[in-house]
Amino acid sequence: MLYINGDIITMNAERHIIANGALLVRDNRIADIGKTSALVKAYPSEPTTDLGGKLVIPGLIDTHVHLAQSLLRGCADDKSLITWLCERVWVLQGCFEGDDGYAAARLCIAEMMKSGTTTFLEAMCADRYNFDRVAQAVEESGIRACIGKIVMDVGTYATQSPFSMHPGLIETREQSLLGTLAAREKWHGKANDRIHVWFGSRTPGGVSVQLFKEMTQLSRERGIRITMHCAEVEADKQYFRQGKSMTSF
Ligand SMILES: [Zn+2]
Repeated sequence: MLYINGDIITMNAERHIIANGALLVRDNRIADIGKTSALVKAYPSEPTTDLGGKLVIPGLIDTHVHLAQSLLRGCADDKSLITWLCERVWVLQGCFEGDDGYAAARLCIAEMMKSGTTTFLEAMCADRYNFDRVAQAVEESGIRACIGKIVMDVGTYATQSPFSMHPGLIETREQSLLGTLAAREKWHGKANDRIHVWFGSRTPGGVSVQLFKEMTQLSRERGIRITMHCAEVEADKQYFRQGKSMTSF
């Protein structure tokens, strides 16, 4: 198929933008690219789709997604982050059951794909969302995903000891760290390498020093990537000022 009459943002090394450009797609891959006039001449028998002057851009990459929260929009918009999480959002997420996580993943993925996102990083996939079903949602959709399986062993939030995650979300080292290894064994590289499994370490205060050490050692030994929330609230800065630094691991 030859897609014609689009303005193509190539993002190549020279940052070329091709006005009134065309793309030749063969076997699911871009086989040629250039001016519409040139490609129509070069491939005269190719069927065409007229893009009508639309922009053609590379797929977007969303580097921080919480799939589960797609079902919870608007539930506590007037709250500060920690209160928002501890009093509303985590309470609801902590009550996910059955295929709630799968439904949330499908909704979130559909919205990402509709807006041009072709790859995303899930920051913290909890056991409660059912990792297998979330991975299946990725597999079925055609999107690419790095799924950070939550790694944690502390339920409180940074220095905010009165606040805690909902019990339904709290996981142990065995569930979270070893669970990531099991999920990775099953899913990493699957769906034609569209699915990658990462460590999704929770927050600065959500992982004990011992668990951070164990996780980073496994990361180095096995090449497992890590994503985590680092400095999203003032309490995180206070936590780091107590002398606990991620660089020490
Ligand atoms: Zn986040």
